[in-house]
This record gives sequence, structure tokens and C-alpha cells, in this order.
Amino acid sequence: MEPGAGQRPSVFELPKVELHVHLDGAIKPETILHFGKKRGIPLPADTVEDLLPHISYSEPLTLTQFLAKFDIYMPAVAGDRDAVRRIAYEFVEMKANEGVIYVEVRYSPHFLANCKVYPVPWNQNEGNLTPDEVVNLVNQGLQDGERDFNIKARSILCCMRHMPSWSLEVVELCKKYHNNTVVAIDLAGDELVAETFPEHRQAYEEAERCGIHRTAHAGEIGSPLVIKEAINVLKAERLGHGYHVLEDPSLYKELLDRKMHFETCPRSSILTGACDPDYKKHPVIQFMKDKANYSLNTDDPLIFNSTIETDYKIAKQFLGFTEEEFKRVNINAAQSSFLPNKEKRELLSKLYEAYGMDPDNLF
Ligand SMILES: [Zn+2]
Repeated sequence: MEPGAGQRPSVFELPKVELHVHLDGAIKPETILHFGKKRGIPLPADTVEDLLPHISYSEPLTLTQFLAKFDIYMPAVAGDRDAVRRIAYEFVEMKANEGVIYVEVRYSPHFLANCKVYPVPWNQNEGNLTPDEVVNLVNQGLQDGERDFNIKARSILCCMRHMPSWSLEVVELCKKYHNNTVVAIDLAGDELVAETFPEHRQAYEEAERCGIHRTAHAGEIGSPLVIKEAINVLKAERLGHGYHVLEDPSLYKELLDRKMHFETCPRSSILTGACDPDYKKHPVIQFMKDKANYSLNTDDPLIFNSTIETDYKIAKQFLGFTEEEFKRVNINAAQSSFLPNKEKRELLSKLYEAYGMDPDNLF
């Protein structure tokens, strides 16, 4: 970070690991404007200053209002090869500037495509960019970014709860691009869609069979039952958010014993209405007390008008984080990352060294 005039030092200056962030929720507004203009796709404003109030927000909204934000800007980038590669590349640059040294970024390949995807999303006309090519382009952008900004970036492909017909292709893409940035499968979207459709179950079974790692959004808005299903049926190894586990103490105890990883996102949890807006009641405080395995993440920084610094500030100011806890959550994140073991050990030793810690004598 540049020592700009009046810029305060960040609350945690050491290297960070981020595991839960959506590529399509982390696009630079400049890039949205650029491609909107170039492709003649209407946007509600033509400067960053005027566009942001339409896309980002700072007071809790309903899920429907939150999802409506994507309708505004996704048409500008979806279906365009240059845009897809560029948002991946710029994402890596953004995270490098935030002091993140390892990031797992997730997205639905179908939401960026306009061909071989039914229905074609965002009211686009049918074109010739398939979900498969989207993954290839994102990979190129991430790999170019890794080379230019000296951080490591891996990706997670998302199934969408309300679009079961896409899920089997998602797992096939995970297999095709396994370890070519893709490390895992996710299930995202509205948890209140009552059941886990058979296609999602089949996709996760196939992922498990093929050694593809598994995370799932569960217990963000939804009940502990959604978490149980994610663990027992989908065999999720990590949970996206998971806050509502606290409503089921025996499940919570079981997950603590199993060292299940919770990908928590403090600012997001307030703005989506997932958690009580009173930070004193925030689930992360309980996770911290119980030394749970969890990480701090941004989720959708474009929409929440945030960087990882925003979430770390919240953790320090409202959740009572110490320097030790920041170190602990980042080591947890590295340990629960979906990197192959050798690369995971390398990442952990980088953190131990930067944190001045003896790996044989932790916490
Ligand atoms: Zn998420």
C-alpha cells in the first residue's frame, strides 16, 4: 500500500489468506463502465462516482434487493471474452494490493456465458461464449495476475441452488480444469430453496469420487438443517458462512470437534441480513471464544463497497480481535485451503515466517 497522505496503517499489516470471495462480486466499477460503453450496454451512470450508489450499499437489504444489484452490471461483462479475462486479472491485482498472498475466488461459469447455457442469463442475446470457455478465460486471467503480482490464486466453481440443470456441467468443468486453477466445487444462491436437488447431490458425489474439494454456502441465512445437509449429503469440507450453526448446540459441538472450517464474512453478514446488525451478538465472537476453525473474508466487495481491510477493521473494532487472533484465522485459512499438501505446507511456512511464529509451538 502506498504511504498516501493521511492514510492510516491497516489493522493487520501481515500477509493474509482469503477463501470466500465471488469473482462477479469483485469487479472494478471502471471495468464495468469500460465494457458497458464498448459493447453499447446501458448502465444507470457513466462515471464511477455515479455508478457506485446503484451497485453498492451500506445498510442491510433483503436478498431480492441484493440480487437485483447483479442485474444492473452483469450484462456489461457477461458474454465478453476480454471482459471475463480482465476481471480475473484485475481481481488478482486487487487482492495483491490488499496484502493477500493466497486467494480462492469463486464464480458460476454459467453466469458469465451466453452460449450453451439455458436460460441465457441477464437477458443477453445468445452468443458464442460457453461456460467451458469462461473457465479457460478466467484461468488465463488468474495465471497472468499470479505472474504479474506475485500471489497465488485458485478458483472454485459454483453450482446455483435454483439452477440444478447446470450442476453436472459444473462438476465436469471442475474435473477438466482440476488444479489448472480450479480446486473445488461450491453451491451458492438462495438457501431458502427448500431442498437440495438431486443434480446438486450427484455433482457433489462425482466431485468426491474424483478428489475435487467441496465447500457449500450453508447456514448463512438458512437453518442448521441446511448445514447438516451440506455436511452429510454433499460431504462439504468447509462451510460458506455457517453462522446459524449456533442455533443447534449439539451440531455446533460436533463441528468444533471435527474442526470444520467456517468461511465468515463480517460485513456481508450484516448487509445481507444474515446476522443481527448488533455486532456484539455476532457469531464470530462465539467462534473466537471457542477457538473454532474459521477465516475472515469479503464475499462481494464491489457490492459491499469494501476491501479485506473493511472486514479486518470490523473484527478489530467490534468483534474484539487481537493481533494473535488475526494470525490464528489466517493460519486456519491456510490449513483449510484446498491447495495440494505440498503447496499448503509452503503457504503455511510463509505465514509462520512472516508472523515470527514457531510452527511447533502454536497458540
Ligand atoms: Zn458467498
